[in-house]
Amino acid sequence: ASSGGCENQMENRMKHVKQAVLVLSGKGGVGKSTVAASLAVMLAKQGKKVGLLDVDFHGPSQPTLFGLQHERLEEGPNGLVPAEVAGIRLMSVGLVLDNPDHAVIWRGPAKTGALKQLLEETDWGELDCLVMDFPPGTGDESLAGCQLLPIPKRAIVVTTPQEVALADCRKCVDFCRRLEVPVIGIVENMSGFVCPDCSARHELFGTGGGARLAEKEGVPLLASIPLDPAFLKSCDFGELPAGLEKSSAVRGELDKVVRAV
Ligand code: ADP
Repeated sequence: ASSGGCENQMENRMKHVKQAVLVLSGKGGVGKSTVAASLAVMLAKQGKKVGLLDVDFHGPSQPTLFGLQHERLEEGPNGLVPAEVAGIRLMSVGLVLDNPDHAVIWRGPAKTGALKQLLEETDWGELDCLVMDFPPGTGDESLAGCQLLPIPKRAIVVTTPQEVALADCRKCVDFCRRLEVPVIGIVENMSGFVCPDCSARHELFGTGGGARLAEKEGVPLLASIPLDPAFLKSCDFGELPAGLEKSSAVRGELDKVVRAV
């Protein structure tokens, strides 16, 4: 397969994709991949045609969230065929690398090239929404994603309530502004803790950080998703869709994000 060079290749592929939603975060470990995956699954449940593209070259976690880490994708007549799982079409660098346990040591241009190739060569078919899970920060992949995609795109920024995470989140919002990608809103994750015994919600890290940031930046705070240990376990076992079914506290907040998309 060619790495492109022909502008039409990208446009031909993307003309069947109505919009892209970029999921970004300033820091790693805030739950960006989990939010991206959950959003994709919940949009699909509403009957939308949804693709999920994992462009975290250094730590692709989408295959793991769906228990597909040992799968390898095949090339079909129209390009790479995404994995079908929980009603979505999933493409991840983790599903095309020869050995998912090998570290990816690529410089910026190589990653930009690989992202372009993934976008051009994946046989998405028709999509209402392509959810994109980027690496944390505002590096090559996010920049390339914003610049390469010839379709309407908007962003969701995921943060935790702590001040350190909020500062980096602010940079993400600024990044989107400079690249003229509208920010749908901020999602505060790990915001409070749901007690597995009594289901009560406890505010471990304080509250209001996401709301204050949202107000300052003039973007909506879409949701405050609690930390739910049972949900974490489901994700670790590669059963994110089942975890979502079980955790009504997490699902209730994510519903608000779905409505905003
Ligand atoms: P990131 O993509 O920002 O690096 P991940 O989505 O990989 O973060 O999440 C980091 C860890 O936190 C994972 O183990 C994930 O299952 C867990 N996690 C994320 N959000 C929640 C939540 N709301 N409740 C419980 N665990 C969560």
